[in-house]
Amino acid sequence: MLLTLLLLTLTSLNRTKWNSTKTGELTMKSAYNYITKFNTNKNEASFGKQIWNLNTMSKVNMFCWKILAGALSLGQKMSTYVKDSNPFCLLCDNSIMEDEMHLFVNCFFTRKIWDLFGFNNIYNSRSHKDIQSWFNFWMNNKDFKNSHDKFSFIIWSIWKFRNSVNYDNVMPVPQNLFESITTTYQKYVSTINNPLSSSRKKNITPSKINSIVNNKSYDWFIYFDVSYMEADFTMGYAISIMDNTGNRKYCRAANS
Ligand SMILES: [Zn+2]
Repeated sequence: MLLTLLLLTLTSLNRTKWNSTKTGELTMKSAYNYITKFNTNKNEASFGKQIWNLNTMSKVNMFCWKILAGALSLGQKMSTYVKDSNPFCLLCDNSIMEDEMHLFVNCFFTRKIWDLFGFNNIYNSRSHKDIQSWFNFWMNNKDFKNSHDKFSFIIWSIWKFRNSVNYDNVMPVPQNLFESITTTYQKYVSTINNPLSSSRKKNITPSKINSIVNNKSYDWFIYFDVSYMEADFTMGYAISIMDNTGNRKYCRAANS
């Protein structure tokens, strides 16, 4: 009996509560109200929009957002949380701290990749104080106007490769990654150019939506994801609002 009471007490004490409703329950309406009440300035809004439109693949856009939100578990950051973890770059063996600017812009290995693609001007033309100014630079440079899709694909591929070096002991050989990106990018381009492809950006048709929601029609959908740190109750969240054709109309991500 005592144990049961204790468990009940603990359960109620630890209960997660959504702050935007009185009851603490998450509802789609409250999530929508929560994100649309933000007053973002014009620059921030247009920067965010550019990020979400970098690539045809949503996961690449999401990945770029994660870079800019400081959400990647890079060596330097992890070493402040995990005792004895390696803070240095895994790709160049230069004993340089692994942060966003190093991994995607300044690393010797990464520069070799940019060079192999003929994109040395993406890191050479000027120095950038942080990763946001670097993204700003190439997203708003007319010379790179038609390369956003490829740049973001390469950045995403460098991250995946870095993880295979970390977890699968793959040797960091620039030529190998270059060849692998070239092959997968070609496949990806032919896939998005093929109207019959299943990987093509999927539009949710009204008929599909109706089948999902029992023949009721909806004007928009909200995708909501959140994660919590039990240790200090901080949280990060991402919310996308899609219209009924599957196009993203609004998105917001932050932490608290
Ligand atoms: Zn490096």
